[in-house]
Amino acid sequence: NRRFVLASRPHGEPVAENFRLETVEIPQPAVGQLLLRTLYLSLDPYMRGRMSDAPSYAAPVQIGQVMVGGTVSRVVSSQHPDFKTGDWVLGYEGWQEYALSDGQGLRNLGTKLNHPSRLLGVLGMPGFTAYMGLLDIGQPQAGETVVVAAASGAVGSVVGQIAKLKGCRVVGVAGGEEKCRYVVNELGFDACIDHRAPQFAAQLAAACPQGIDVYFENVGGVVFDAVIPLLNTKARIPVCGVIAQYNATELPAGPDRLPLLQSLILRKRIKMQGFIIFDDYAPRFGEFLQQMEEWVSQGKIKFREDIVDGLENAPQAFFGLLQGKNFGKLVIRVGNE
Ligand code: NDP
Repeated sequence: NRRFVLASRPHGEPVAENFRLETVEIPQPAVGQLLLRTLYLSLDPYMRGRMSDAPSYAAPVQIGQVMVGGTVSRVVSSQHPDFKTGDWVLGYEGWQEYALSDGQGLRNLGTKLNHPSRLLGVLGMPGFTAYMGLLDIGQPQAGETVVVAAASGAVGSVVGQIAKLKGCRVVGVAGGEEKCRYVVNELGFDACIDHRAPQFAAQLAAACPQGIDVYFENVGGVVFDAVIPLLNTKARIPVCGVIAQYNATELPAGPDRLPLLQSLILRKRIKMQGFIIFDDYAPRFGEFLQQMEEWVSQGKIKFREDIVDGLENAPQAFFGLLQGKNFGKLVIRVGNE
Protein backbone atom coordinates (compact mmCIF):
# COMPACT_ATOMS: atom_id res chain seq x y z
CA ASN A 1 0.00 0.00 0.00
CA ARG A 2 1.70 3.17 -1.19
CA ARG A 3 0.62 6.53 0.14
CA PHE A 4 1.74 10.14 0.18
CA VAL A 5 1.95 11.89 3.51
CA LEU A 6 2.63 15.56 4.12
CA ALA A 7 6.33 15.74 5.08
CA SER A 8 6.63 19.52 5.58
CA ARG A 9 4.65 22.69 4.96
CA PRO A 10 5.46 24.71 1.82
CA HIS A 11 6.63 28.29 1.85
CA GLY A 12 5.30 29.70 -1.42
CA GLU A 13 5.13 27.14 -4.21
CA PRO A 14 4.95 23.54 -2.95
CA VAL A 15 7.94 21.32 -3.77
CA ALA A 16 8.59 17.56 -3.94
CA GLU A 17 10.14 17.53 -0.44
CA ASN A 18 6.79 18.57 1.04
CA PHE A 19 5.52 15.04 0.28
CA ARG A 20 6.83 11.63 1.31
CA LEU A 21 5.94 8.38 -0.42
CA GLU A 22 5.53 5.59 2.12
CA THR A 23 4.88 1.90 1.67
CA VAL A 24 2.86 0.29 4.44
CA GLU A 25 0.99 -2.99 4.85
CA ILE A 26 -2.50 -3.26 3.43
CA PRO A 27 -4.80 -3.10 6.46
CA GLN A 28 -7.53 -5.66 7.16
CA PRO A 29 -11.10 -4.56 7.99
CA ALA A 30 -12.45 -5.26 11.47
CA VAL A 31 -16.16 -5.68 12.17
CA GLY A 32 -17.99 -2.58 10.90
CA GLN A 33 -15.17 -1.66 8.52
CA LEU A 34 -14.38 -2.12 4.83
CA LEU A 35 -11.20 -2.07 2.76
CA LEU A 36 -11.16 0.16 -0.31
CA ARG A 37 -8.83 0.14 -3.30
CA THR A 38 -8.44 3.56 -4.90
CA LEU A 39 -9.04 3.70 -8.65
CA TYR A 40 -9.20 7.46 -9.19
CA LEU A 41 -7.90 10.32 -7.06
CA SER A 42 -9.02 13.88 -7.71
CA LEU A 43 -6.37 16.61 -7.53
CA ASP A 44 -7.81 20.03 -6.73
CA PRO A 45 -6.50 23.53 -5.99
CA TYR A 46 -7.89 23.51 -2.41
CA MET A 47 -5.20 20.96 -1.49
CA ARG A 48 -2.69 23.82 -1.43
CA GLY A 49 -4.69 25.27 1.45
CA ARG A 50 -4.66 21.97 3.38
CA MET A 51 -0.86 21.88 3.19
CA SER A 52 -0.71 25.14 5.10
CA ASP A 53 -1.63 25.71 8.74
CA ALA A 54 -2.90 29.25 8.13
CA PRO A 55 -6.49 29.68 9.40
CA SER A 56 -9.03 28.35 6.89
CA TYR A 57 -12.52 26.90 6.61
CA ALA A 58 -11.10 23.37 6.99
CA ALA A 59 -8.44 21.89 9.24
CA PRO A 60 -4.94 21.47 7.75
CA VAL A 61 -3.41 18.07 7.02
CA GLN A 62 -1.05 17.31 9.89
CA ILE A 63 2.61 16.54 9.21
CA GLY A 64 2.91 12.78 8.68
CA GLN A 65 -0.78 12.44 7.76
CA VAL A 66 -1.96 11.06 4.41
CA MET A 67 -2.80 13.90 1.97
CA VAL A 68 -6.55 14.34 1.65
CA GLY A 69 -8.49 14.06 -1.58
CA GLY A 70 -11.70 12.87 -3.22
CA THR A 71 -11.58 9.30 -4.53
CA VAL A 72 -13.51 6.70 -6.47
CA SER A 73 -12.68 3.26 -5.10
CA ARG A 74 -13.85 -0.33 -5.11
CA VAL A 75 -14.58 -2.44 -2.07
CA VAL A 76 -11.94 -5.17 -1.70
CA SER A 77 -13.44 -6.77 1.40
CA SER A 78 -16.15 -5.71 3.79
CA GLN A 79 -17.33 -6.36 7.30
CA HIS A 80 -19.84 -3.52 6.97
CA PRO A 81 -23.53 -4.30 6.34
CA ASP A 82 -24.00 -1.57 3.69
CA PHE A 83 -21.05 -2.49 1.43
CA LYS A 84 -20.01 -5.65 -0.35
CA THR A 85 -16.95 -6.71 -2.33
CA GLY A 86 -16.96 -5.12 -5.80
CA ASP A 87 -19.10 -2.09 -4.94
CA TRP A 88 -17.97 1.23 -6.38
CA VAL A 89 -17.65 3.91 -3.73
CA LEU A 90 -17.25 7.69 -3.84
CA GLY A 91 -15.27 8.91 -0.86
CA TYR A 92 -12.51 11.06 0.50
CA GLU A 93 -9.72 8.57 1.06
CA GLY A 94 -6.79 10.73 -0.04
CA TRP A 95 -3.49 10.05 -1.76
CA GLN A 96 -3.20 6.29 -1.13
CA GLU A 97 -3.77 2.98 -2.88
CA TYR A 98 -5.80 1.31 -0.12
CA ALA A 99 -7.90 2.74 2.67
CA LEU A 100 -9.78 1.37 5.63
CA SER A 101 -13.18 2.97 6.26
CA ASP A 102 -16.06 2.71 8.71
CA GLY A 103 -18.42 3.78 5.94
CA GLN A 104 -18.83 7.36 7.13
CA GLY A 105 -18.99 9.89 4.32
CA LEU A 106 -19.02 7.18 1.64
CA ARG A 107 -21.54 6.97 -1.19
CA ASN A 108 -22.17 3.45 -2.40
CA LEU A 109 -22.48 3.56 -6.20
CA GLY A 110 -23.31 -0.14 -6.69
CA THR A 111 -21.51 -2.75 -8.75
CA LYS A 112 -21.93 -1.19 -12.19
CA LEU A 113 -20.54 2.24 -12.93
CA ASN A 114 -19.83 3.82 -16.28
CA HIS A 115 -17.20 6.57 -16.43
CA PRO A 116 -16.20 6.55 -12.72
CA SER A 117 -13.79 9.50 -13.05
CA ARG A 118 -16.64 11.84 -14.01
CA LEU A 119 -17.83 11.71 -10.39
CA LEU A 120 -14.71 13.67 -9.47
CA GLY A 121 -15.29 16.30 -12.15
CA VAL A 122 -18.29 17.34 -14.18
CA LEU A 123 -20.67 15.14 -12.14
CA GLY A 124 -18.91 15.80 -8.84
CA MET A 125 -17.52 18.52 -6.62
CA PRO A 126 -16.22 20.88 -9.37
CA GLY A 127 -19.39 20.62 -11.48
CA PHE A 128 -21.50 21.20 -8.37
CA THR A 129 -19.38 24.25 -7.53
CA ALA A 130 -19.94 25.73 -10.98
CA TYR A 131 -23.67 25.02 -10.86
CA MET A 132 -24.40 26.52 -7.43
CA GLY A 133 -21.96 29.43 -7.61
CA LEU A 134 -23.24 30.58 -10.97
CA LEU A 135 -26.96 29.95 -10.57
CA ASP A 136 -27.48 30.75 -6.89
CA ILE A 137 -25.04 33.63 -6.43
CA GLY A 138 -24.39 34.80 -10.01
CA GLN A 139 -28.06 34.59 -11.09
CA PRO A 140 -27.31 35.10 -14.78
CA GLN A 141 -30.09 36.55 -16.93
CA ALA A 142 -30.46 36.09 -20.70
CA GLY A 143 -28.58 38.77 -22.60
CA GLU A 144 -26.15 39.52 -19.78
CA THR A 145 -22.37 39.15 -20.08
CA VAL A 146 -20.68 36.50 -17.91
CA VAL A 147 -16.90 36.27 -17.52
CA VAL A 148 -15.07 33.30 -16.01
CA ALA A 149 -11.36 32.51 -15.74
CA ALA A 150 -9.63 29.11 -15.65
CA ALA A 151 -12.23 28.63 -18.39
CA SER A 152 -10.94 25.30 -19.72
CA GLY A 153 -10.73 23.84 -16.20
CA ALA A 154 -13.07 21.70 -14.14
CA VAL A 155 -15.16 24.53 -12.68
CA GLY A 156 -14.78 27.28 -15.29
CA SER A 157 -15.73 25.11 -18.27
CA VAL A 158 -19.03 24.21 -16.63
CA VAL A 159 -19.74 27.78 -15.48
CA GLY A 160 -19.46 29.11 -19.02
CA GLN A 161 -21.54 26.38 -20.60
CA ILE A 162 -24.37 26.79 -18.08
CA ALA A 163 -24.29 30.54 -18.69
CA LYS A 164 -24.63 29.86 -22.44
CA LEU A 165 -27.63 27.60 -21.73
CA LYS A 166 -29.14 30.55 -19.83
CA GLY A 167 -28.77 32.79 -22.90
CA CYS A 168 -25.79 34.90 -21.80
CA ARG A 169 -22.84 36.26 -23.69
CA VAL A 170 -19.93 34.29 -22.22
CA VAL A 171 -16.29 35.34 -22.23
CA GLY A 172 -13.65 32.98 -20.89
CA VAL A 173 -10.13 33.70 -19.71
CA ALA A 174 -7.52 30.96 -20.03
CA GLY A 175 -3.77 30.45 -20.16
CA GLY A 176 -2.55 30.07 -23.74
CA GLU A 177 -3.89 29.82 -27.27
CA GLU A 178 -4.66 26.12 -27.22
CA LYS A 179 -6.91 26.37 -24.18
CA CYS A 180 -8.62 29.46 -25.61
CA ARG A 181 -9.32 27.72 -28.92
CA TYR A 182 -10.85 24.77 -27.08
CA VAL A 183 -13.02 27.05 -24.94
CA VAL A 184 -14.50 28.79 -28.01
CA ASN A 185 -14.58 25.94 -30.54
CA GLU A 186 -15.52 22.99 -28.31
CA LEU A 187 -17.28 24.56 -25.35
CA GLY A 188 -19.07 27.25 -27.36
CA PHE A 189 -18.05 30.35 -25.40
CA ASP A 190 -18.40 33.60 -27.39
CA ALA A 191 -14.79 34.57 -26.78
CA CYS A 192 -11.77 33.57 -24.72
CA ILE A 193 -8.82 35.77 -23.81
CA ASP A 194 -5.30 34.62 -22.89
CA HIS A 195 -4.43 36.13 -19.50
CA ARG A 196 -0.72 35.97 -20.36
CA ALA A 197 -1.11 38.14 -23.48
CA PRO A 198 0.49 41.60 -23.08
CA GLN A 199 -2.73 43.33 -24.16
CA PHE A 200 -4.89 41.16 -21.89
CA ALA A 201 -6.89 43.97 -20.22
CA ALA A 202 -7.62 45.73 -23.53
CA GLN A 203 -8.63 42.45 -25.18
CA LEU A 204 -10.96 41.59 -22.32
CA ALA A 205 -12.58 45.05 -22.56
CA ALA A 206 -13.05 44.59 -26.32
CA ALA A 207 -14.70 41.19 -25.75
CA CYS A 208 -17.17 42.74 -23.27
CA PRO A 209 -18.65 45.72 -25.16
CA GLN A 210 -21.69 45.78 -22.81
CA GLY A 211 -19.58 45.48 -19.64
CA ILE A 212 -19.68 42.54 -17.22
CA ASP A 213 -22.80 41.51 -15.28
CA VAL A 214 -21.47 38.32 -13.67
CA TYR A 215 -17.82 37.70 -12.95
CA PHE A 216 -17.29 34.17 -11.62
CA GLU A 217 -14.05 34.55 -9.65
CA ASN A 218 -11.72 31.54 -9.95
CA VAL A 219 -8.28 33.16 -9.96
CA GLY A 220 -7.96 36.74 -8.61
CA GLY A 221 -4.72 38.55 -9.45
CA VAL A 222 -4.34 40.33 -12.79
CA VAL A 223 -7.59 38.87 -14.09
CA PHE A 224 -9.63 40.55 -11.37
CA ASP A 225 -7.68 43.79 -11.94
CA ALA A 226 -8.79 43.77 -15.57
CA VAL A 227 -12.39 42.91 -14.68
CA ILE A 228 -12.93 45.70 -12.12
CA PRO A 229 -13.29 48.65 -14.56
CA LEU A 230 -15.70 46.63 -16.72
CA LEU A 231 -18.21 45.75 -14.00
CA ASN A 232 -21.77 46.99 -14.59
CA THR A 233 -24.14 48.41 -12.01
CA LYS A 234 -25.66 45.51 -10.00
CA ALA A 235 -22.97 43.08 -11.15
CA ARG A 236 -22.64 39.83 -9.16
CA ILE A 237 -19.33 38.21 -8.26
CA PRO A 238 -19.46 34.67 -6.88
CA VAL A 239 -16.03 34.32 -5.24
CA CYS A 240 -15.16 30.69 -5.79
CA GLY A 241 -11.37 30.67 -5.72
CA VAL A 242 -8.28 32.86 -6.00
CA ILE A 243 -5.73 30.36 -7.30
CA ALA A 244 -3.35 33.11 -8.45
CA GLN A 245 -2.85 33.89 -4.75
CA TYR A 246 -2.58 30.41 -3.21
CA ASN A 247 1.23 30.41 -3.21
CA ALA A 248 1.57 34.05 -2.13
CA THR A 249 3.67 34.68 0.96
CA GLU A 250 2.99 38.42 1.18
CA LEU A 251 0.58 41.07 -0.09
CA PRO A 252 1.07 42.14 -3.74
CA ALA A 253 3.32 45.13 -4.36
CA GLY A 254 1.87 48.50 -5.27
CA PRO A 255 -0.68 50.85 -3.75
CA ASP A 256 -3.55 49.59 -1.59
CA ARG A 257 -6.59 49.55 -3.89
CA LEU A 258 -9.09 48.32 -1.33
CA PRO A 259 -10.70 51.78 -0.82
CA LEU A 260 -11.25 52.05 -4.59
CA LEU A 261 -12.86 48.63 -4.69
CA GLN A 262 -15.12 49.49 -1.76
CA SER A 263 -16.34 52.71 -3.33
CA LEU A 264 -16.96 50.87 -6.62
CA ILE A 265 -18.98 48.21 -4.78
CA LEU A 266 -21.00 50.98 -3.20
CA ARG A 267 -21.59 53.17 -6.26
CA LYS A 268 -22.41 50.25 -8.55
CA ARG A 269 -24.20 48.19 -5.84
CA ILE A 270 -22.08 45.17 -6.66
CA LYS A 271 -22.67 41.89 -4.85
CA MET A 272 -19.55 39.89 -4.06
CA GLN A 273 -20.09 36.63 -2.18
CA GLY A 274 -17.76 33.81 -1.29
CA PHE A 275 -18.95 30.23 -0.92
CA ILE A 276 -17.57 26.83 0.08
CA ILE A 277 -19.48 24.30 -1.92
CA PHE A 278 -20.37 21.48 0.49
CA ASP A 279 -20.53 23.72 3.57
CA ASP A 280 -23.08 25.95 1.86
CA TYR A 281 -24.94 23.74 -0.57
CA ALA A 282 -24.67 20.04 0.42
CA PRO A 283 -28.47 19.46 0.51
CA ARG A 284 -28.74 20.47 -3.16
CA PHE A 285 -26.27 17.90 -4.53
CA GLY A 286 -29.09 15.59 -5.72
CA GLU A 287 -30.77 18.37 -7.70
CA PHE A 288 -27.43 19.24 -9.31
CA LEU A 289 -26.60 15.65 -10.22
CA GLN A 290 -29.95 15.02 -11.87
CA GLN A 291 -29.71 18.19 -13.96
CA MET A 292 -26.04 17.73 -14.89
CA GLU A 293 -26.46 14.07 -15.89
CA GLU A 294 -29.23 15.20 -18.22
CA TRP A 295 -27.15 18.01 -19.73
CA VAL A 296 -24.12 15.74 -20.20
CA SER A 297 -26.15 12.94 -21.78
CA GLN A 298 -27.76 15.44 -24.17
CA GLY A 299 -24.35 16.81 -25.12
CA LYS A 300 -25.27 20.25 -23.75
CA ILE A 301 -22.37 20.25 -21.30
CA LYS A 302 -19.00 19.05 -22.57
CA PHE A 303 -15.98 18.41 -20.42
CA ARG A 304 -12.40 17.35 -20.65
CA GLU A 305 -10.40 15.18 -18.26
CA ASP A 306 -6.65 15.29 -17.79
CA ILE A 307 -5.91 11.80 -16.47
CA VAL A 308 -2.41 11.04 -15.18
CA ASP A 309 -1.41 7.42 -14.53
CA GLY A 310 0.20 6.34 -11.27
CA LEU A 311 -0.01 7.57 -7.69
CA GLU A 312 3.73 8.31 -7.79
CA ASN A 313 3.02 11.13 -10.26
CA ALA A 314 0.53 12.93 -8.00
CA PRO A 315 2.93 15.59 -6.60
CA GLN A 316 4.21 16.68 -10.05
CA ALA A 317 0.68 16.75 -11.43
CA PHE A 318 -0.43 18.83 -8.46
CA PHE A 319 2.38 21.36 -8.97
CA GLY A 320 1.29 21.59 -12.61
CA LEU A 321 -2.28 22.37 -11.54
CA LEU A 322 -1.07 25.45 -9.68
CA GLN A 323 0.86 26.53 -12.79
CA GLY A 324 -1.87 25.94 -15.37
CA LYS A 325 -0.22 22.85 -16.88
CA ASN A 326 -3.36 20.73 -16.57
CA PHE A 327 -5.84 20.85 -19.44
CA GLY A 328 -9.22 19.86 -18.03
CA LYS A 329 -10.17 18.13 -14.78
CA LEU A 330 -7.01 16.69 -13.24
CA VAL A 331 -7.42 13.09 -12.03
CA ILE A 332 -4.84 10.48 -11.03
CA ARG A 333 -5.56 6.91 -12.16
CA VAL A 334 -4.24 5.11 -9.09
CA GLY A 335 -5.28 1.60 -10.07
CA ASN A 336 -6.80 -0.17 -13.04
CA GLU A 337 -10.46 -1.15 -13.12
P1 NDP B 1 -8.79 23.96 -12.88
O1 NDP B 1 -9.10 22.65 -13.49
O2 NDP B 1 -9.38 25.18 -13.51
O3 NDP B 1 -7.22 24.11 -12.78
C1 NDP B 1 -6.62 25.26 -12.22
C2 NDP B 1 -6.40 26.32 -13.31
O4 NDP B 1 -6.20 27.57 -12.69
C3 NDP B 1 -5.14 26.12 -14.11
O5 NDP B 1 -5.26 25.16 -15.13
C4 NDP B 1 -4.91 27.51 -14.67
O6 NDP B 1 -5.67 27.66 -15.86
C5 NDP B 1 -5.53 28.41 -13.60
N1 NDP B 1 -4.48 29.16 -12.91
C6 NDP B 1 -3.51 28.67 -12.12
N2 NDP B 1 -2.71 29.65 -11.68
C7 NDP B 1 -3.19 30.79 -12.22
C8 NDP B 1 -2.80 32.17 -12.16
N3 NDP B 1 -1.75 32.54 -11.42
N4 NDP B 1 -3.53 33.07 -12.83
C9 NDP B 1 -4.58 32.69 -13.57
N5 NDP B 1 -5.00 31.41 -13.68
C10 NDP B 1 -4.30 30.48 -13.01
O7 NDP B 1 -9.20 23.96 -11.33
P2 NDP B 1 -10.66 23.88 -10.72
O8 NDP B 1 -11.66 24.09 -11.79
O9 NDP B 1 -10.73 22.68 -9.90
O10 NDP B 1 -10.69 25.13 -9.72
C11 NDP B 1 -10.91 26.45 -10.19
C12 NDP B 1 -11.04 27.38 -9.00
O11 NDP B 1 -12.20 27.04 -8.24
C13 NDP B 1 -9.88 27.33 -8.01
O12 NDP B 1 -9.59 28.64 -7.57
C14 NDP B 1 -10.43 26.49 -6.87
O13 NDP B 1 -9.78 26.76 -5.66
C15 NDP B 1 -11.87 26.92 -6.87
N6 NDP B 1 -12.80 25.99 -6.24
C16 NDP B 1 -13.56 26.45 -5.19
C17 NDP B 1 -14.50 25.68 -4.59
C18 NDP B 1 -15.35 26.25 -3.51
O14 NDP B 1 -16.08 25.53 -2.85
N7 NDP B 1 -15.31 27.55 -3.27
C19 NDP B 1 -14.68 24.27 -4.99
C20 NDP B 1 -13.88 23.87 -6.14
C21 NDP B 1 -12.96 24.72 -6.71
P3 NDP B 1 -5.12 28.58 -17.07
O15 NDP B 1 -3.97 27.84 -17.67
O16 NDP B 1 -6.29 28.68 -17.96
O17 NDP B 1 -4.72 29.87 -16.46
